[in-house]
Amino acid sequence: MSTLFISDLHLDESRPEITRAFFSFLKTTASDASDLYILGDFFESWVGDDDESPFINSVKQALKDFTDRGASLYFMHGNRDFLIGDTFCRDVSAELLPDPSVISLAGEQTLLMHGDSLCTDDQDYMQFRKMARDPLWQQDALSKSLAERRAIAKHMRMVSGESNSNKATDIMDVNASAVNAEMAKHGCTRLIHGHTHRPNRHSITTTKEITERIVLGDWDHQLWYLKVDNNEISLNSASIVS
Ligand code: MN
Repeated sequence: MSTLFISDLHLDESRPEITRAFFSFLKTTASDASDLYILGDFFESWVGDDDESPFINSVKQALKDFTDRGASLYFMHGNRDFLIGDTFCRDVSAELLPDPSVISLAGEQTLLMHGDSLCTDDQDYMQFRKMARDPLWQQDALSKSLAERRAIAKHMRMVSGESNSNKATDIMDVNASAVNAEMAKHGCTRLIHGHTHRPNRHSITTTKEITERIVLGDWDHQLWYLKVDNNEISLNSASIVS
């Protein structure tokens, strides 16, 4: 029985090969997993749990098939799907985890995050994040019509793509002091996050101890997952056939 971690699939109707790869992942790699953690940006965008489409319903059905066999599913918001709500989670029997969350994993206190809150050098984004995580802002956003919300999401994706292409790549990575501070605050010796699309395992040596930061990969030409089985941890990838 393994525990699996994935993030940044950016599922979208326009990339059916990624959705197919996820369905096949559930039936193969995840078929004997006891726990699956999805650490944000599972969907490319999310405008509300009332947004139904055959695409969204097919994803929900696949998740439900996974939890129906007794496996546990955990969801964390990313910067794109932070409007995923209780209805969606209830429909697929997932538990919505706050960002950050602490779990005990392979004998170590492990901090789980999406990762966007660690990119503190990107001040414009940090400002947007603060606004968009305000419950009042979210209430207001969700009170708009579905058509209006879809239009806003489309516009925001365009603006974000344009501004990111003008940003230095290092400000879009995590800030090392923010990482150390967050791990110390929660007393964790391991951090698992996504968001930066830079899959890797980093050892961090501080004066007190050696800790590890594991970065999950985004799904594009390859899929990525972290597997924990009998205290053995491996970051894995495989090609996605389009
Ligand atoms: Mn992200």
